[in-house]
Amino acid sequence: MNVYEELGLKRVINASGKMTALGASVIDAGVADYMVRASMDYVNIEALMEKAGEVISKYTGAQDACVTAGAAAGIAIAVAACIAKDDIDAIERLPVSKGLRNEIIIQKGHSIDFGAPVVQMIRLGGGVPVEVGHTNKAAPLHIERAVNEKTAALIYVKSHHTVQKGMVSVEKMVNIAKKYDLPLIVDAAAEGDLKKYLAAGADLVIYSGGKAIEGPTSGFIAGRRNLIGYCRLQYRGIGRAMKVGKENIAGLLKAVELYGSRDNREEALRQKEEMEWLKVEVDKIDGLEAEVVQDEAGREIYRVHIRVDSGFLGVDAKHIIDELERGDPAVYTRNHYANMGIIGIDPRPLKEGEERVILNRLRSIVEDIKRRNT
Ligand SMILES: *Cc1c(COP(=O)(O)O)cnc(C)c1O
Repeated sequence: MNVYEELGLKRVINASGKMTALGASVIDAGVADYMVRASMDYVNIEALMEKAGEVISKYTGAQDACVTAGAAAGIAIAVAACIAKDDIDAIERLPVSKGLRNEIIIQKGHSIDFGAPVVQMIRLGGGVPVEVGHTNKAAPLHIERAVNEKTAALIYVKSHHTVQKGMVSVEKMVNIAKKYDLPLIVDAAAEGDLKKYLAAGADLVIYSGGKAIEGPTSGFIAGRRNLIGYCRLQYRGIGRAMKVGKENIAGLLKAVELYGSRDNREEALRQKEEMEWLKVEVDKIDGLEAEVVQDEAGREIYRVHIRVDSGFLGVDAKHIIDELERGDPAVYTRNHYANMGIIGIDPRPLKEGEERVILNRLRSIVEDIKRRNT
């Protein structure tokens, strides 16, 4: 029995992805052991935070890094750092930022909800979000025209949640940031490439520790030395409400180290093969048609999309999704396209053999439906 079953909760098979609602990631035994050891001793937290910056920088190519409670906290702290810098009065006054340069420019198509709105995290850090362009289209001129003496930073959000076309590229935003001498923050929460955006010229890049890196609940901001120093100072202000404990800092460092030395492409290809197997098997079920598709944001993730033939089965995808969740263990699928009749299976969070459990559940759900239909 796992801890959650001991608490009387249902076992969960996660086929949906790195979802906060399902506990984000499960960590490697080596990371877990490191966290337990870290939790049993005292340490000077400020020194640990600085050491963490050194370790993370080895894997990101950044000058320095600041550990955060997650990527959402990372947005708030990065914004606070760009606004309050090292001014202790301002740090202690945030998120009230009246009189300071506090405007943060974001493209409308990037103003997403990842579970909470990006713009709310900007406000939490004292920022005033300035949305520019249109939902489906923005031009460099929209950004440049919004720049004024109140502008504190530009933010670019890299995510499958954002509008995927018609947006100003990160490279163009780097150029605009340089032209007006403004910092560019990139929210790369779920991205797996820890170097790309820094190499492209972003000043602060935010990652979630619990997504691609598969660490504990945590995150970090990597970037320019002076700005990262300001980020750490925000723990004397708003950062205190989002502090990260020593065990999570240690777990993040171990996870980053493992992630940086692992062949992530090999793992992606293994998962792809697993999904190709599942596709073939699901295709044999009457009323379901499967396809292997690559991640919308272009990452090396290959998922199975199962199209439900509701004309044939007399039920829609949502019905099957509900049945999967109702069972024990509860199977959670990726439901971004449920309204189009598609159920997604994400290979990353699946434990060994769970793809077979999902297949068997799909078979029995469809059998039940067919029995009821006759
Ligand atoms: C998940 C996510 C976040 C929040 O990350 P946490 O580590 O859960 O705080 C922020 N931005 C984007 C684009 C995300 O996908």
